[in-house]
Amino acid sequence: MAIYTLPELPYDYAALEPVINPQIVELHHDKHHAAYVKGANDTLEQLEEAREKDAWGSINGLEKNLAFHLSGHILHSIYWHNMASPKDGSGGGEPTAADGVGDLADAITESFGSFAKFKAQLTKAAATTQGSGWGVLAYEPVSGRLIVEQVYDHQGNVGQGSVPVLVFDAWEHAFYLQYKNQKVDFIDAMWAVVNWQDVAKRYAEAKDRTPLITP
Ligand code: MN
Repeated sequence: MAIYTLPELPYDYAALEPVINPQIVELHHDKHHAAYVKGANDTLEQLEEAREKDAWGSINGLEKNLAFHLSGHILHSIYWHNMASPKDGSGGGEPTAADGVGDLADAITESFGSFAKFKAQLTKAAATTQGSGWGVLAYEPVSGRLIVEQVYDHQGNVGQGSVPVLVFDAWEHAFYLQYKNQKVDFIDAMWAVVNWQDVAKRYAEAKDRTPLITP
């Protein structure tokens, strides 16, 4: 029985135009994200089989696959909701108190000095990923601050316990059909689809959780 399921997109394939074209959104969700969901479920089955047979020859590969596919599923599930249409005013801009996301705006200023400095850091982290990866804004529960992470694949280079609240997919499958090799142009364009209401909701929920450890 499948433990993980592919969530539906919160909009149609064309909703993110002109920043991301419909063909990319369709392939990215229906094929790539779906493959991570299947990979996570398949790996859990293989681990169950290993426990039943007490056969641990593949344990290293299985644990690596679990981290990869599960993290891919989680990051993509956040990614779709982190974005909104750039055409109707629901995506893009900056978080402000006037839009009801003042807590997030304040946290960004406290953690990075200013919105502009934060934007520069996340843009740079996402655009300079080596191979495949993500640029991530995460809530770090020990300090209670926001940090930027440059994630390798889906699961590497991550601080344990940090909670992703805004994720930029920098894998080639996220942009190549439209932006070719211009990853910097794609990441620059991504700011026009950021759904700050969703980011603020994730930030508030992450902050409300029980602290991971005593600071
Ligand atoms: Mn992706």
